[in-house]
Amino acid sequence: MSDKGMTTMAVKKINKNKVYSFIRQEVTTSKLQIVQKLQMGLSTVSQNLKILEEEGLLEKNGYFESTGGRKAQAIQIRRTARISIGIGILKKMVHFVAIDLYGTVIFDSTQDIPYEPSLDYYRQLGLELEEFISENDLDRSSILGVSIATQGIIAPDGQSVSYGVIMDNIQMKLSDFTEFITYPCRLEHDSKAAAYLELWNHQEIDSAVVLLLNRNMGGSVITNRQVHQGIHMHSGIIEHLCITPDGPLCYCGCRGCLETYCSANALENASGMGITAFFQELGNGGSRCRQIWDDYLNHLAFAIRNLNIMIDGSIIISGYLVPFFIEDDVTYLLNQINSSSPFTLSREQILLGTQGQYTPAIGAALYYIREFLQNV
Ligand SMILES: [Zn+2]
Repeated sequence: MSDKGMTTMAVKKINKNKVYSFIRQEVTTSKLQIVQKLQMGLSTVSQNLKILEEEGLLEKNGYFESTGGRKAQAIQIRRTARISIGIGILKKMVHFVAIDLYGTVIFDSTQDIPYEPSLDYYRQLGLELEEFISENDLDRSSILGVSIATQGIIAPDGQSVSYGVIMDNIQMKLSDFTEFITYPCRLEHDSKAAAYLELWNHQEIDSAVVLLLNRNMGGSVITNRQVHQGIHMHSGIIEHLCITPDGPLCYCGCRGCLETYCSANALENASGMGITAFFQELGNGGSRCRQIWDDYLNHLAFAIRNLNIMIDGSIIISGYLVPFFIEDDVTYLLNQINSSSPFTLSREQILLGTQGQYTPAIGAALYYIREFLQNV
């Protein structure tokens, strides 16, 4: 093929992507708006709309109000033309989510499947996935891939878990899953997946620290809109920040890690209650719960204070415990942080995640959506 031929093809692809991205961003638009905003010729726009429509990526939904002359047709992307599935693997349960081309969750489900490193486990997971797809009537040909978020650090080649003490899943390999999952598949560290979701939801973020308050804690660091990985993929493992050198023993073998104070498990251990019951009691004014919760927030504030010294950016609090947070908790955290830091953290810098326990599964699933949108 001649250079000229290659160039024409590349331009065509870029134009198609521009048209598609514009429609997606606008949510609803018209042909004329595309021509005007993208400053693209009418025939080029028409041609691209035709191609995108033939590929099943667009839908025309009604008409705009006429401002004289013919009414303009309303154009939208078909948001479920492609979908991505996220699986969040925990010690005692599995979360499934399906997300559309806007990254919106269209279906979710939680199954009590305890993790075990056996062929039976991976077979059952494959069957549950198929069940999830059938139950929700998902079009199999629209599934871009299945992204699996797990506790544990993923090896740089993405093929296996290189550190997995919580679930004892150090032997977990991507090939264990792909034996029973027929879609493109990948592994993701759950706390990094959480960071991907927050980046997706907050286009304005440049740098941030993500604290994932799950059964076990997780964390990640974002700089220049990238999740920092590190030489051994363990950048941002905030849960093992040492808070008190002679504190309680952490599963990692060290003492006084943030995990031992601020994971949901730590909160349950301290209170001797389930999480929902704990927050109910706290809401009812239980003084013992108040003391335990203040203690929890004090440790969290201590960590955030130090993390903000390292990364001058947003603090994103995400995961299972976040739906239980109220504004008073954020105010308390801010007071604690600012009373002991040379730099003031503002309320706007603290962001609360919105997806609770499904955060890692959704964040992992976004990978395939992002990839599709870049190459459409
Ligand atoms: Zn630790």
